Amino acid sequence: MSDTPTYGFDTLQIHAGSAPDPATGARQTPIYQNTGYVFRDADHAAALFNLQEVGFIYSRLTNPTVAVLQERLATLEGGVGAVATSSGHAAQIMALFPLMRPGDNVVVSNKLYGGTVTQFSQTIKRFGWEAKFVDIDDRGAVSRACTKKTKAIFCESIANPGGHVADLESIAKIADRKGIPLIVDNTTATPYLCNPIAHGATLVVHSTTKYISGNGTAMGGVVIDSGKFDWSASDKFPSLSEPEPAYHGLKFHETFGHLAFTFHGIAIGLRDLGMCQSPQNAFLTLLGCETLSLRMERHVANAKKIAEWLENDDRIEHVTYAGLKSSPHARRVKKLYKKGAGALFTFAVKGGYDACVKLVDSVELFSHVANLGDTRSLIIHSASTTHRQLTPEQQEAAGAAANVVRVSIGLEDADDLIRDLDQALSKAVG
Ligand SMILES: *Cc1c(COP(=O)(O)O)cnc(C)c1O
Repeated sequence: MSDTPTYGFDTLQIHAGSAPDPATGARQTPIYQNTGYVFRDADHAAALFNLQEVGFIYSRLTNPTVAVLQERLATLEGGVGAVATSSGHAAQIMALFPLMRPGDNVVVSNKLYGGTVTQFSQTIKRFGWEAKFVDIDDRGAVSRACTKKTKAIFCESIANPGGHVADLESIAKIADRKGIPLIVDNTTATPYLCNPIAHGATLVVHSTTKYISGNGTAMGGVVIDSGKFDWSASDKFPSLSEPEPAYHGLKFHETFGHLAFTFHGIAIGLRDLGMCQSPQNAFLTLLGCETLSLRMERHVANAKKIAEWLENDDRIEHVTYAGLKSSPHARRVKKLYKKGAGALFTFAVKGGYDACVKLVDSVELFSHVANLGDTRSLIIHSASTTHRQLTPEQQEAAGAAANVVRVSIGLEDADDLIRDLDQALSKAVG
């Protein structure tokens, strides 16, 4: 079931990429808990290793359970191919790896998940890569930050944790003018609420650890390629357009066309960086994926109700939920998020840092956890945890100031969640 563009999202989230197991007829995708695959003969092995034939060699590169997940997520995002990885952070490295050389840079939004800010501002420097942080709403600043050495623009669709909604179409236009890909982290929106490719993104990355698996059980990530970028239009992307010495001079773009990025991700990225997803985690993620739309509808409905309640409470200074009528992003939400603006947001508590710490210590139903996108409701004080490594200025820019807590609204009864926040706020603010 690979070419089925006429099916709707609810159908595709269950069926895309999967078929009854050819060996046993098993209807659910089996967990191929397996590392190596028997070659038919020496010629078959040689053809696989030369990338002349597609098949399974070794699970660091490809695995049948992981392959189903890749096809399912590529389909849900409207891409042509996907590479699953061990985590969302691995997916970000895998997205940049084919594009970047030492001395190159990527222009990134200053409103990003805290772990990504650290990965980009510190760790990638060791590869000789640089991230240039900009206000992604300032088109002039984004444009000016792009130099000859800039190989991509990176942003989040709805930024974690501050709920900033990126104007994807205008950012994509800048990327087009500069001849570079736009990479969008769509973790907090999910493909059910937003398809960045439809708004001009070249590559989409996810931490599937969050809403896509949905139950807080499995780490994972994915890079999805739109298949729309012309890697040979300039000399900027030699890994994709020039002869690859590790494959006897094969040119990925010339040989694999719109699948060049995906083939490179598997044949070079997974092969040599090794950040592959485990089949067990792919299975759990596929299970979660089957109910993604149903869960997102409830996540959104609960988040809206709770955000509205918080907004009207005296103990709260402000609520950043992009789905509120009062949100500065309301117009963008109307255009890009017809089914809702997710279920992750922050609110500022009167009483600052101390009140926030007291609040997370006083909740009973919410869990104090550094995760999001779980069935359970989660709460965290970003400034003392996920965004602790950042300077106060970076915290503020990322929407994680000291007086702010982040909630990931789960699937429980909204009234129970409101009661829990109410009692905890009484203890925290008094
Ligand atoms: C969690 C998260 C990541 C990192 O993903 P991991 O699976 O934890 O490695 C990246 N981006 C966003 C928006 C996230 O929420």
